[in-house]
Amino acid sequence: MEITLLCIFFLTGIISWLLWKNYCLKRDIYDFTQKLDQSLNQLLNNEQLSKTIDQKDDLWGMVSERLNRISHLYARKNQEISEEKENLKELVSDISHQTKTPLANIKLYLELLLEAKDGTSPQESLEKINSQVEKLDFLLQSMVKLSRLETGTIKIQKSEVPIADTLAEAIGGAIPKADQKHISIQVSYDENLRLHHDKKWTAEAIFNLLDNAVKYTEEAGKIHISVKKETIFTKISISDTGKGIPLERHGTIFTRFYREPEIHDNEGIGIGLYLARKIISMQNGYIKVDSEVGKGSSFHIYLPNKME
Ligand code: ADP
Repeated sequence: MEITLLCIFFLTGIISWLLWKNYCLKRDIYDFTQKLDQSLNQLLNNEQLSKTIDQKDDLWGMVSERLNRISHLYARKNQEISEEKENLKELVSDISHQTKTPLANIKLYLELLLEAKDGTSPQESLEKINSQVEKLDFLLQSMVKLSRLETGTIKIQKSEVPIADTLAEAIGGAIPKADQKHISIQVSYDENLRLHHDKKWTAEAIFNLLDNAVKYTEEAGKIHISVKKETIFTKISISDTGKGIPLERHGTIFTRFYREPEIHDNEGIGIGLYLARKIISMQNGYIKVDSEVGKGSSFHIYLPNKME
């Protein structure tokens, strides 16, 4: 009798314990599902995840840590997307602003041609239309180049090549205009110097700086190009005896489409320096400017010596 009672008592104990365990498990699963549901809703609604006060070393602790990481990743991606959207908006507004004037001029000269009045000869109008079309063509080509660089369609391809080859490519493009203005170009560099860089794009950046040096230097002025290997970087300097740039504009001139107000008679759209800086920074380098109004300017390209 006593044994039977003891057995019943023991079995009741086990059943109660199992029921209690079952209850606890159900409660934990319910809590877990509630918290998961709440966090997923917050993630879906782009809200900040509620803070777990005590970061326990249990299943929820682990899951909530992962959810937090997803939430941060999500926030960062959203931030990147909105920055890209903002950039695109600016770019579209810049392009529409830049194309407006040449298009308006083309329309005007076409109207003059059609009406044949205002004493304008057809030849004069045609030349003006031609120069506006060239400006548009240059603008579109530069924009395509820029967008390809920015979107990664064009990849920087570095290899160890003599810097002399890169300089030759850049100088070759600038000589015709320099000759027209009787501007001398002097170069000093070590012929054996090799540098790990993208030859094509670096030549393009150097050409942009050289083209500016020619553009903003008076007839019979001088341009000097030098290359010096320093401890960490190789420095390529392009110095001219041109008009110079006021100190307060040394940062602004690298902005897309920025042109100094007083140079509007010179050809250009304000993209050369922006593009040059982009090309050099994609190779982990940078560009610096030293300039004094009336004395001239020096643009220095710094490219890392080490392979990266
Ligand atoms: P762009 O030459 O088409 O105007 P850039 O982006 O190449 O555009 O240059 C931006 C501005 O910086 C120029 O409009 C000019 O005012 C100034 N600048 C650039 N290079 C020189 C230079 N070597 N000497 C004087 N001013 C310069």
